[in-house]
Amino acid sequence: MPTIFSHAAVPMFAALIATEKWIPRPLAMLGMAVAILPDADVLAFKFGIAYTDQFGHRGASHSLAFAALLGLLCCCAAYWKQVQRPWLWGGFIALAAASHGLLDMATNGGEGVALLWPALHERLFWPVTPIEVSPIGRGFLSWRGVQTLYSEFLWIWLPMLALWGGAHLLRRRQAG
Ligand SMILES: [Zn+2]
Repeated sequence: MPTIFSHAAVPMFAALIATEKWIPRPLAMLGMAVAILPDADVLAFKFGIAYTDQFGHRGASHSLAFAALLGLLCCCAAYWKQVQRPWLWGGFIALAAASHGLLDMATNGGEGVALLWPALHERLFWPVTPIEVSPIGRGFLSWRGVQTLYSEFLWIWLPMLALWGGAHLLRRRQAG
């Protein structure tokens, strides 16, 4: 996995780029939480569930199906709470959750991601995997942890910052 900070960065920047008019602050916060959520599956190790099991780390919780389910639940909850544009809440949450597995697929270690679970149990990676895999647990405080942060900055934060800056400039030009 990339670190939880970088997972949360994806919906955060997406919300910044879309502006609060479309993605209100509470929705952005919820999206950040949901982008981290799939890695709660590391608890599976504690229960003796193997990494490669469908409910192991990077298994079902990292799939598009799980992301869609979270989006659907969120859409229903937003509708029930009579929030404006419940479909937008559902869609943003589904995308935020899906971004987790898609990002993990770009890491250079561990097992792949069960992105297409339950249709396909195979663990998948992208053809190129530039992101240094984050050490799980305390291994994070090591040289590898530093390398991980650097590669995440390069491959996640920098492109997102560039997009945000670009969107900002474009909007300023339109306004002026
Ligand atoms: Zn993960």
